[in-house]
Amino acid sequence: MLAPNLGWHDVPVAARLARTFGPKLWIGVDNDANLAALAEHAGGVAAGTDDLVYLTGEVGVGGGVILGGRLLRGADGFSGEIGHLLVDPGGDRCGCGRVGCWETKVGLAELLRRAGPGAADGPDRDSMPDPHHRIRQVARRIAAGDQAAVTALAEIGRWLGHGGAVLVNLFNPRVIVLGGYFAEFADRLIPAAQAGLAGLTVASTARRCHFVASHFGFTAAARGGAGVVLDRMIEDPTGFPLAESRPLAAV
Ligand SMILES: [Zn+2]
Repeated sequence: MLAPNLGWHDVPVAARLARTFGPKLWIGVDNDANLAALAEHAGGVAAGTDDLVYLTGEVGVGGGVILGGRLLRGADGFSGEIGHLLVDPGGDRCGCGRVGCWETKVGLAELLRRAGPGAADGPDRDSMPDPHHRIRQVARRIAAGDQAAVTALAEIGRWLGHGGAVLVNLFNPRVIVLGGYFAEFADRLIPAAQAGLAGLTVASTARRCHFVASHFGFTAAARGGAGVVLDRMIEDPTGFPLAESRPLAAV
């Protein structure tokens, strides 16, 4: 229905894929943050934790929320749009059109902007970024002791704690899993984020929530998507059409 950073509104993704691949293929569509949260819950760094929030850590910042072992979707499926929490009314304009959203403070575009001249070279935030290339660039700056990059990560960590405290006050998760680029710089982000969480969380027991870095990198959503398909097959093995067998010579 809405993908602000891609400029997509009411794009019938599943229908278009079905036209391409044909009617025999089962096609489902879900939010990447939801799928990533499912992957972390099933077999990731937070496996066995029934109350967790996953943060995507890309140009857009999405969240997958699992409470009591179940994915929270909301009435219309938009429960995870936590990148668009208003955290700074006087801040920068966001891809969604509003001002001061959390992702303008902690998204990958903000890291590249803050990390200094040259770090944001290449396609702008409206194009498809190559996050791996961008992250390696910032990592090299950090290794070289680049003060702008070090300060950028400290500031982003502080804002992670600010928004994380909102999530803790709302959902009382035990763990906030940092995915995407957040995981790459977790050793620099987590201390500042954890300090922010401690200072802004209302219930003292909720402060036991801690940030952890995903081990799945940018593959968490794909792993979650594969898990959804496997779960469906196990629940109803007859619900999937068999692939047509072809002679080996034709393969
Ligand atoms: Zn926004």
